[in-house]
Amino acid sequence: MEYLWWGLVFVTGTAVGSFLNVCIYRMPAGESVVHPPSHCQACRHNLRFFDLIPVLSYLFLKGKCRYCGSRIAWQYPAVEFLTGLLFVLALVKYGITFRALRSIVLFSVIVPATVIDLRHKIIPDKLNLAGFILGIPLLLESKEVFFSSAAGFLIGGGLLFVIALASRGGMGGGDIKLSAVLGLLLGWKLLLAALFLAFVAGSIAGLTMLMLKLARLKEPIPFGPYLAFGAMFATLAGDKVIKWYTGFC
Ligand SMILES: [Zn+2]
Repeated sequence: MEYLWWGLVFVTGTAVGSFLNVCIYRMPAGESVVHPPSHCQACRHNLRFFDLIPVLSYLFLKGKCRYCGSRIAWQYPAVEFLTGLLFVLALVKYGITFRALRSIVLFSVIVPATVIDLRHKIIPDKLNLAGFILGIPLLLESKEVFFSSAAGFLIGGGLLFVIALASRGGMGGGDIKLSAVLGLLLGWKLLLAALFLAFVAGSIAGLTMLMLKLARLKEPIPFGPYLAFGAMFATLAGDKVIKWYTGFC
């Protein structure tokens, strides 16, 4: 029976991923995510439902538009598959619970945030706002959850705000808001684990890029992907990270 649930959640995840692809392409351009209907980026031909089946349509069409034959970016099926996988992992980790739902909302924010930040060096307000609005009702599970999430929201936003001030623009407003929303969805303990992981990953990647001369010191680097990495890790293994870290000091 369990596998049936996993399959169902995976399929749901890929469908959400398909919508996230729309967000990835339209949000940075300030376009509506619901209108016009999905169309080919090259020939503008409207896509039918059988062109839009997550992952499968891409495989069936061998990565080419049915109408004009131009290449479809591999990012489409990749985002769909990844979202499906993350949804299943949330279910495996937390079962059918509010916590799993909060993780699912979190994944639905960080997947597009990562791709958009890498491409455009911004995290759209709409994306953070969607995470906030979808997250709020899921905090009403218990008083404990509510207060932990409120604290996470304030700490997540506050800490990055202070860092942004101290680094004079090294950290953007989108990062601050994303961190606050992650705090809301994770609660304060897991948020701290997520930020810890994000800073470790960011430092390692930053130093490596400096050494390879791929980046310069004063250049702002998109921090969203590291926040996303930290949040993903904290969601799926954060309890272990906290145990490991507190066991050290
Ligand atoms: Zn086309």
